[in-house]
Amino acid sequence: APVLLLSGVERRYTQGEATLTILAGVDLELAPGETVALVAPSGAGKSTLLHIAGLLEHPDGGEIDICGRPTSRLSDGDRTMLRRTQIGFVYQFHHLLPEFSAVENVMLPQMIRGLPKTEARRRSAELLSYLGLEKRLIHRPAELSGGEQQRVAIARAVANAPRLLLADEPTGNLDPKTSDHVFNALVQLVHASGLAALVATHNLDLAARMDRQVTLRDGRIEPLG
Ligand code: ADP
Ligand code: ADP
Repeated sequence: APVLLLSGVERRYTQGEATLTILAGVDLELAPGETVALVAPSGAGKSTLLHIAGLLEHPDGGEIDICGRPTSRLSDGDRTMLRRTQIGFVYQFHHLLPEFSAVENVMLPQMIRGLPKTEARRRSAELLSYLGLEKRLIHRPAELSGGEQQRVAIARAVANAPRLLLADEPTGNLDPKTSDHVFNALVQLVHASGLAALVATHNLDLAARMDRQVTLRDGRIEPLG
């Protein structure tokens, strides 16, 4: 089954008398391990689409299947469980907890899921080392560079071994060179762990490193170009 299947997904916002249609029937399928770049202008609906795909927001129409499971009739608790076990998120800003070290930030989601502390620490250190941060484990976010902070956020997103990674401008806050490094790390990790990924980015060079590129036009998904 596809890791992510969006069928006819709709989203509208009403402002007074006016209705703004953001998503007008989005169809999109991500196979296991497939990486897709979502490239579209600001305001096109990329964040809205990622939130809906990540089960953080309900659509006004259509269906979202995660790993072959339709989600529209799930209880809130089951949706949260599906999200926690199958989906990882990376945002433009890292949202790390400032009072915790790098390794602790990565351990947290695993401990919330009930993994023993020693096992969570071992796995987190391994992930951070894979991302080139073996010398930064006990640093707090404020003691790390922007690129390092974002790599910690990537490690945290995949800590619970999800099947799907959703990233919203993951390097949008970084200078071009750092952006390049972090994006490479992301792509390498995604491929090494067989994750499917949907990555919103403005950067066409970075988008070209994904398996496929799509855009949002008039609320629908189209191939880019
Ligand atoms: P992108 O991520 O591509 O920049 P967004 O998904 O953030 O686009 O927003 C798409 C459109 O939806 C924008 O015009 C935005 O103003 C509008 N929008 C987003 N959230 C809301 C909301 N909660 N209420 C009203 N309009 C919204
Ligand atoms: P919940 O708080 O609903 O139980 P989780 O804590 O399991 O959800 O969060 C799963 C992922 O979703 C985390 O990466 C978290 O950062 C993200 N997340 C949760 N709520 C939101 C939200 N309202 N907006 C953006 N991301 C969110």
